[in-house]
Amino acid sequence: MSDWLNEFRKAGAIWLHDGEPKRPHALLTSGLHSDGFVNCTYVTQHPGLLKRIVNEPDALAGKLPSGRIDWVIGSPMGAITLAHEIAERLGCRAGFTEKDGDAMSHKRFELEPGARVLVCEDVVSTGGSTRKTIEAIQAAGGGSGKVEILPVVIALVNRSGAADLDGRKIEAVVTPAIHTWKPEACPLCAKGSEAVRPKSHWKALTGT
Ligand SMILES: [Zn+2]
Repeated sequence: MSDWLNEFRKAGAIWLHDGEPKRPHALLTSGLHSDGFVNCTYVTQHPGLLKRIVNEPDALAGKLPSGRIDWVIGSPMGAITLAHEIAERLGCRAGFTEKDGDAMSHKRFELEPGARVLVCEDVVSTGGSTRKTIEAIQAAGGGSGKVEILPVVIALVNRSGAADLDGRKIEAVVTPAIHTWKPEACPLCAKGSEAVRPKSHWKALTGT
């Protein structure tokens, strides 16, 4: 058994604040403050690690649905290689959606009527990009019901705090407890910790 949360932390893909107020915490793009941050590019940039995650039973292999699956489709850009690895394991096809203004579209691959599609995501936070990917697949398949999107979403990290997304179960490798607050209600600010942009201060946050 691998300690996958620890593997993700070692890879630098997950940072969790340790409660020490001398150390900074995260200022998110939304303006909220957080005691954790996830950046899965530090996992997906290692093809061997991604392959292990997909194929080891205690990571994703044991969580993949059984039965016929025709396509694995990931959202851009973080889940494209994940979709490829899962499809290789399942022996089916791999695809991805693309950003299209505020929405997403699925235009490079033709989905046959009745296709059974498994959706995957690198990080489920608000679920916004996964919802847009599902809508794009339904639109590309000719509307709701023409293709079958399986009732499971596969993810590397679920930090949404929820077990499902609109009724689809989220099966993730790791589910870290990450909290967000409005700045004025942030307990870390109250202790004197500094709020910093995580991507530009990644080394200061993670110590890597
Ligand atoms: Zn704060």
